[in-house]
Amino acid sequence: MAGTGVFSQILDGEVYKYYSDGEWKKSSSGKSVAIINPTTRKTQYKVQACTQEEVNKVMESAKIAQKSWAKTPLWKRAELLHKAAAILKKHKAPIAECLVKEIAKPAKDAVTEVVRSGDLVSYTAEEGVRILGEGKFLVSDSFAGNERTKYCLISKIPLGVVLAIPPFNYPVNLAVSKIGPALVAGNSLVLKPPTQGAVAALHMAHCFHLAGFPKGLISCVTGKGSEIGDFLTMHSGVNCISFTGGDTGIAISKKAGMIPLQMELGGKDACIVLEDADLDLVAANIVKGGFSYSGQRCTAVKVVLVMESVADAVIKKVKAKVAKLTVGPPEDDCDITPVVSESSANFIEGLVMDAKQKGATFCQEYKREGNLIWPLLLDNVRPDMRIAWEEPFGPVLPVIRINSPEEGIHHCNASNFGLQGCVFTKDINKAVLISDAMETGTVQINSAPARGPDHFPFQGLKDSGIGSQGITNSINMMTKIKSTVINLPSSSYTMGNGRSKL
Ligand code: NAP
Repeated sequence: MAGTGVFSQILDGEVYKYYSDGEWKKSSSGKSVAIINPTTRKTQYKVQACTQEEVNKVMESAKIAQKSWAKTPLWKRAELLHKAAAILKKHKAPIAECLVKEIAKPAKDAVTEVVRSGDLVSYTAEEGVRILGEGKFLVSDSFAGNERTKYCLISKIPLGVVLAIPPFNYPVNLAVSKIGPALVAGNSLVLKPPTQGAVAALHMAHCFHLAGFPKGLISCVTGKGSEIGDFLTMHSGVNCISFTGGDTGIAISKKAGMIPLQMELGGKDACIVLEDADLDLVAANIVKGGFSYSGQRCTAVKVVLVMESVADAVIKKVKAKVAKLTVGPPEDDCDITPVVSESSANFIEGLVMDAKQKGATFCQEYKREGNLIWPLLLDNVRPDMRIAWEEPFGPVLPVIRINSPEEGIHHCNASNFGLQGCVFTKDINKAVLISDAMETGTVQINSAPARGPDHFPFQGLKDSGIGSQGITNSINMMTKIKSTVINLPSSSYTMGNGRSKL
């Protein structure tokens, strides 16, 4: 159970502590932030509202810890990460319980998130050992006029203190996807978890504590992003920000200053369906892609662009599958669970009402109880409707009928977002041409968009992000290149086999 057993030290009465300098602490603010259970809409947990002084202290400790961590052998860093991964997986049940209560993640998916996170950390340790153990060697005589008098040794060095800010929908997985690469590369890490999901993240941080990482190397400060977010992201002690979330990331990138940024932001992933597509495959992927975790995924299918000639058949098949989705509490492992907050539910409802007023066809009756919204497919959506462009982050999926693939590509490219997209066709040549034309970071051919597996590159174009994630890319992003040039007094050429066969 959450907050008990090995996790009892992270809880003080009814308020979870924050993690600083290798210890679990109460904030001197004396204030806490309530985490509302999306299902019951009552306070489920409370976390500390950390102060600016506490953030300063965390940054100071992170700076000190990083200096000796950078001198810790790579195999040792990897060993500790493997240990943390094993502890995380061992304690999957209480962490998953938090995900169910804080963000209404269906019970089985909550367990999967924790296990996947452990696997991600292990893979990161292995990948780090490989890619950070390699450097580059250049010689100077490639350019005319240069002799072979300079040897350039190129290695990857840590950046310093990495600030990690994940979103509510994967508070554990999207935290470790930043923590693992930062640590293996020799950085220290300060985590600011999302408020909804903070308690799962604190349990996860405790697994790293139990693994025995040096004090100060990892910290976790809690509080509302709107209150401590700016202080954290503009802090002079931060050398890199890895952020995943919505438009907040655009604001952060304008304020952050001259440090490397990794931004994974929103998406409006388009699903283009051509006439020759396997319509059963299309329907299965639209339902999985559009409605898993109630549509609250960055890579959810967020608009279907289907050729008019097959639209009726696709809608019919999708409707039949939607009818089979279970709706209810996450504890019962329902397919559709309450969305994360009342304001989120209100926002989704606003998009639905706008579409209704402008004449969209409702394939199901719109139904809402509290934060629980029943899955809804909207047919005949037109570009003048908000839902054609905005990200509902809920179980509501618009369908736009198109008369040519070009029309679909045009709609996809007219979006401010460019995270992923997908195209369904049996013609691989057409699929490749469409993929090349779509202005998105990834295009899936004959499958719904997806972030994993976690070693695949993952990036968004336009307002969907800066840089690229995926384990290897994140490790590289959290390092900088350092060159040491050896200047020889005269040119030197490395000889090969000098022995003559004669
Ligand atoms: P969000 O509102 O942008 O919040 C993300 C994180 O930023 C939270 O930890 C939040 O903390 C924090 N935050 C809020 N204000 C801040 C500030 N001024 N400075 C620094 N941090 C601040 O996003 P969300 O609602 O949690 O997540 C949904 C969004 O994330 C969607 O747009 C989705 O598409 C996107 N997403 C993208 C990816 C991707 O990889 N591209 C993956 C998953 C989700 P509080 O919770 O305390 O406010």
